[in-house]
Amino acid sequence: MPRTQVLVAGGGLTGLSAAVLLAWHGVRCVVVERRAELLARPTPRTVNPRTMEVLRQVGLEHVAVRRSDSAAETSAVSPCAAVSIVQDRFEGMLRERAEALGATVSFGTELKSFNASADSVTATVAEDEGEYTIEADYLIAADGADSNTRRELGLAADDHRCRFGRVFLAGKSASTMPHDSGDIFLQDAHNLAWKLAAVVKGMAGPALLDTYQTERHPDTVPPPAPVDAMTLGFRYCSEAVIDPGGNVALLPSQLRGQPGSRAPHVPVAFFNRPISTLDLYGRDFVALVGSAGAWQHAGEGLPVRTYRIGTHLRSDADLDAAHGITPDGIVLIRPDGFVAWRSPGPVTDATEAMAKALRTILAR
Ligand SMILES: Cc1cc2nc3c(=O)[nH]c(=O)nc-3n(C[C@H](O)[C@H](O)[C@H](O)COP(=O)(O)OP(=O)(O)OC[C@H]3O[C@@H](n4cnc5c(N)ncnc54)[C@H](O)[C@@H]3O)c2cc1C
Repeated sequence: MPRTQVLVAGGGLTGLSAAVLLAWHGVRCVVVERRAELLARPTPRTVNPRTMEVLRQVGLEHVAVRRSDSAAETSAVSPCAAVSIVQDRFEGMLRERAEALGATVSFGTELKSFNASADSVTATVAEDEGEYTIEADYLIAADGADSNTRRELGLAADDHRCRFGRVFLAGKSASTMPHDSGDIFLQDAHNLAWKLAAVVKGMAGPALLDTYQTERHPDTVPPPAPVDAMTLGFRYCSEAVIDPGGNVALLPSQLRGQPGSRAPHVPVAFFNRPISTLDLYGRDFVALVGSAGAWQHAGEGLPVRTYRIGTHLRSDADLDAAHGITPDGIVLIRPDGFVAWRSPGPVTDATEAMAKALRTILAR
């Protein structure tokens, strides 16, 4: 029986994004899509700067710009500009990248049924040649609004849960909202991928996966906010953030390393190379240590990359203040670029404080 770490049902925007992001984290994954080919959907849609930032992490920003019909100007709050792109070109780009990164993407293959136990998921899939079973550690149901997985789980239309043991609903299959935004659905995949990667690699406890529901499908819907705040300033409030500041979205210009918010974009020189601070995030936890270096050695032996402001990262801007810390502070950023924790100043035992923060966030 073929075995994989994550089986993804549905090769639309959500499923293909999940495959790219999982494969990029080194997770073995198989996508089954019942359509034989990508569906031609000729209407161009705007892909927002936050989605472009995620694409930038996995090496797709320039491809998306090349395949777009038009691109906006970048602003001071993001290294990326919105583009307008036709969906099948967008999905084609994701499929190519997922395969290049090692994911198996099988079009013309339908998920017929599955059985999820405490230890694994066994799925029956059908191709023209017949049926076979795949065993996986986890199943992501990205099978759209008419989700068969929802039905198999016995979910009512108004049931908001999107984690059922080893099965996760993502994108349209999880959405109870009347909107139809590919950007929001790609963020579902982005939020889930690093957590699944951390769990399958044994870095995190399974409870980290509960935070996918809390962060992406909260019981309390955040109050409406200006569109820039909804795009770049939305905040997560869960066990994977220490002392989150609530779920009210911030304007991008207000982002200062608040726990639960997207870390701010600041242009910096990184070993003399011009980059955005956002280019530091993606695969690992990153500790930005305040310029006085009080926390410089706190991450040694822990799964975290450490950069010291003023030494590894230089800028005309005050990078300590840009992240809401003093020169003696530290900010810890998750692989998805959201702030997990910060200490504005020094503590007595920096090593233990950092280790404790990581244990808490990773549910260990
Ligand atoms: C650039 C861009 C362009 C867009 N253009 C359009 C547009 O022109 N028109 C529009 O309406 N929306 C458009 N959107 C919005 C978009 O369609 C949705 O937001 C998004 O596709 C929802 O993604 P999804 O993957 O969750 O669901 P879906 O797109 O519905 O994908 C679900 C997939 O699962 C497959 N599937 C279902 N059941 C099974 C099963 N049992 N086994 C295997 N596979 C299964 C389906 O065949 C389908 O491919 C666009 C979005 C973007 C970003």
